[in-house]
Amino acid sequence: MFKLADSLRSASPRLLLRTGIDALRILRFAVGIVVALYFFSVAAQPSRAAANPSETSAPAESLSIGGAAINVAIEPGDLILTRIRILDWVRRSACAVTEYYAGFPVRNVNVKVVPLGEGKGVVFGRTVVVDQTPVIRVGLSRFATESSLLDDWVMTHEMVHLAFPSVADEHHWIEEGIATYVEPIARAQVGDLSPQKVWGDLVDGLPKGLPAPGDRGLDITHTWGRTYWGGALFCFMADVEIHRRTNNRYGLQDALRGIVRAGGSMEHDWPLTRALKVGDDATGVPVLTELYDKMKATAVTPDLSAMWRELGVRSSGDSVVFDQGAPLAAVLRSIMERRSSPGAECVRQGDDRRIPASIDTSTDRWPTTTSH
Ligand SMILES: [Zn+2]
Repeated sequence: MFKLADSLRSASPRLLLRTGIDALRILRFAVGIVVALYFFSVAAQPSRAAANPSETSAPAESLSIGGAAINVAIEPGDLILTRIRILDWVRRSACAVTEYYAGFPVRNVNVKVVPLGEGKGVVFGRTVVVDQTPVIRVGLSRFATESSLLDDWVMTHEMVHLAFPSVADEHHWIEEGIATYVEPIARAQVGDLSPQKVWGDLVDGLPKGLPAPGDRGLDITHTWGRTYWGGALFCFMADVEIHRRTNNRYGLQDALRGIVRAGGSMEHDWPLTRALKVGDDATGVPVLTELYDKMKATAVTPDLSAMWRELGVRSSGDSVVFDQGAPLAAVLRSIMERRSSPGAECVRQGDDRRIPASIDTSTDRWPTTTSH
């Protein structure tokens, strides 16, 4: 899928510690900037939003998932989708994030769904912190259907943003990179996305994160490609390397869980080096710190074709197939395996989709349990 999103920083630090906007299905970057500026203007004027009675009149419903209270308010407006369907979409996204991080990353979050008279599905997503409470605001087209929600990545992407501390502006790539890389894997681990879709999209997307001529390191070149996909490339390289060095005992998932366990969620400002060190301590190998030292100021171009060969990911038509005989095939399997038991609130009766889809038409399946 073509992913286009943009981000910006708040000019109102008292109310908005960090702002990220993820708009999608916008075909031109310039249009993305216009959209970002529009939402920036709204975000930067909280008094105007507060003066609008529709901001406060939407009744909230609280979902209890992964130890968190997820307070969902659907603002007034026309929608085809029912309230039940929308709540189920939020719940599914929260369950994917809960399983990836072994718990929802914050104790309390407000989710505001804003009906829009335009677009097709989920039109934009933005996550901010207001007075210490994270707020996810997602624009939903009045024409959105149940299948729009089943295909949606935005809600999960925004929730992943909760699971990393706020860092200085020059490191924004790590925030978007983690959200871009983790979202599909988290959804696959709960059976909401096929492994072929996850890796097919990474094969398509990661080259957009490679440095263009003249680009410098991730802390210096802040284009859309280097921010979202360059950040995802960092995560992918780190994930493979942690798995490789620890013989698949640990991966990026363990590092990111360690950061959340240490209190590194979005409400808190941390230096990036602290977050990376905490992540490294959780896996016992200093991969994040070493990779950051390599990529922060210098353009690094990994040989992605060679990495796909080693991992056993081969393009096949519109999708990919997995070569279980590849040297690092076990790394790929380990990245995809589920690392926790689902919480009771995430088990759907009669739902067998929680078993991840088979790798291909052969009898191979992704492991569904793990010992760590
Ligand atoms: Zn984002």
